[in-house]
Amino acid sequence: TSAFRPAAAATRTTCGYCGVGCALDVIAQGGEVTAVLPARDGPVNHGHACVKGRFAHGFVTSPERLTQPLLRRGGSLEPVGWDEALAHVSRGLRAAVDAGGPDSVAAISSARATNEDNYLIQKFMRVVIGTNNVDNCSRLCHSPSAAGLTASFGLSGGTDSFDDVERADCLLIVGANPVEAHPVVGARLLNRVLHGAGLVVADPRAVGLALHADVHLRPRPGTNVALFHGLAHVLLAEGLTDEEFLCERTSGLPELTELLAGYPPDRVAGITGVPAADLVAAARLYGRAERPAIVYGLGVTEHLHGTDGVRSLANLAILRGAVGTDGGCGVNPLRGQNNVQGASDMGALPDVLPGYGRVADPAVRSRAEDVWGVPVPGRPGLRIPDMFAAARSGDLRALWVIGEDVCATDPDANRVAEALGACPLVICSELFLSETARHADVVLPVASWLEKDGTFVNFDRRFQRVRPAVPLPGEARTDFDTVRAVATAMGVDLGCATPADALAECGGLAPVFAGLSHQRLDREGAVPWPCPDPDEPGEAKLYTERFATSDGRAHLAAAPYLPPGEQPDDHYPLILVTGRRWAHYNSGSMTRRGGNLALDPVDFLDLHSDDAARYAVRDGEEVTVESRHGRARLIARVGEQTAPGQVFCSFHFPASGVNRLTSHHADAVTSCPEYKVTAVRVVVS
Ligand code: SF4
Repeated sequence: TSAFRPAAAATRTTCGYCGVGCALDVIAQGGEVTAVLPARDGPVNHGHACVKGRFAHGFVTSPERLTQPLLRRGGSLEPVGWDEALAHVSRGLRAAVDAGGPDSVAAISSARATNEDNYLIQKFMRVVIGTNNVDNCSRLCHSPSAAGLTASFGLSGGTDSFDDVERADCLLIVGANPVEAHPVVGARLLNRVLHGAGLVVADPRAVGLALHADVHLRPRPGTNVALFHGLAHVLLAEGLTDEEFLCERTSGLPELTELLAGYPPDRVAGITGVPAADLVAAARLYGRAERPAIVYGLGVTEHLHGTDGVRSLANLAILRGAVGTDGGCGVNPLRGQNNVQGASDMGALPDVLPGYGRVADPAVRSRAEDVWGVPVPGRPGLRIPDMFAAARSGDLRALWVIGEDVCATDPDANRVAEALGACPLVICSELFLSETARHADVVLPVASWLEKDGTFVNFDRRFQRVRPAVPLPGEARTDFDTVRAVATAMGVDLGCATPADALAECGGLAPVFAGLSHQRLDREGAVPWPCPDPDEPGEAKLYTERFATSDGRAHLAAAPYLPPGEQPDDHYPLILVTGRRWAHYNSGSMTRRGGNLALDPVDFLDLHSDDAARYAVRDGEEVTVESRHGRARLIARVGEQTAPGQVFCSFHFPASGVNRLTSHHADAVTSCPEYKVTAVRVVVS
């Protein structure tokens, strides 16, 4: 925790971009943000911030901000007052429930919204509509982390605080590019390496930290599970495991040992393309360290077998006795969006209530029913991809999309647009007239992170306060007030008059949050969960005594390697990997409206010089990229950062159509899309 000391005349808040959770002091004048200063006493950022948090605030006063509700009339969206918009929404939702039952309505909540917004949205769907059809965009990024970490260790979060990770003497960084995607953490990791920590980077691309790595493993996209099994094989073969820990605190070793016999370095080299000697060197570096840490990103999760990837990566920490002990710094996912951890923590998911109690469990439902005073449905709801499928088949009659541009960011975007077109009522809460908003029947203007009151949870499970620094534009409302107003229009008082009330109510439902409150966070700055007691500091490092699984042990997983959903062939010979770049954030709707656009004005298709020569592509020319699902236009950038046979682009510029290329293949456990492996070809035209 850290004392809360805002700079004079500034509003202390938490950055609304990536999941690092930098504390920022925002200075505003006349309704405009004039400066954003990184807080010197910020518990994660210690006086630093990146180009996004510091400078990407011009969008707040963009003339393109939505300031009035819009209603579709005769094919076009026209401005209306809130009373008319709310009446239309409430009538439409009620009609959908009457015609198709509660499960014909669904909502997509947002990892950009506050915890309190997410709490209220899931409560609205369960209490007012009567369905568990609520999901959030963690489905598309870290849902395999939630499933995998829960299965291996018991809780759906990273195992250690970042302060602990920073004390590691060896870092294994997998499928992450923190120098660009999480720059403040990237700088802290680099600093640790420059002060002597060993570094293994596992990533197909030559990402920034790879330049400083002792070993850079470059697996073919989609072969992570084989890579992790190869590392585990060496740990076992060379006695780099913690026998006492394995005996006393884990289960599943015999099954894993049998599986790993089939993953010697030579075989793994054939699957992954990683030389056997590099694999052995990396395993020795990790296995011989006194305090190794694993840090990973979406390069692990966004795969057909993303959950198996998380679990196989967790195996390494378990074998080494490097989780829940002083002998290591665990397994730590870098969350992409500011509140992707919190949106799930608050129960904006179709199968769990706040605090991750299963909706299928009558005892869990009973606790919620006592607080909410209504029956809670026991059947898990639809995941985001299933919502689109239900819309296409005519089973979904109303969809409320809150703070997500699903037409730009979800995979196989042509099919997403088709789904929205088939849904009789689409409601969209947005800052701008996004691609998704253009498909909506009602568009509700809402607040950005600089105009909100509430809390976010960052990537190492710390709750921090979010405070409004500037007033709302025009008639825009916060998501919190919007959801309350729709409930009222439908004749239901949701309670929770303020965001502080919502967090308090959530703590009554979910003991892991019971010790948290706005007042406490105002005093202390940041508090990690689990935090069941207002007088206790919260658990920064998990599992020091027992794991949170049913038997108290860490569970080793023995999942065989299976190939990705798509393979290159003669027609589509290259593998496309998508990811983030340093100046922008997600669909870019905020970062492209301001000074950051000048820093990073277009998206590029990075390709290796060998492939550029093979396909006669010149550096800087516009090319067409085609997949089995769609096409996009991008500027070619020829270099050596991507490996031969692979291309890379971001998803920050939806106009280029990148997510029309990506496929519907998804993790079997969680439905997380396989953004990291799409077979494509590049056409010069
Ligand atoms: Fe910090 Fe991430 Fe915001 Fe950059 S984008 S200031 S690293 S929270």
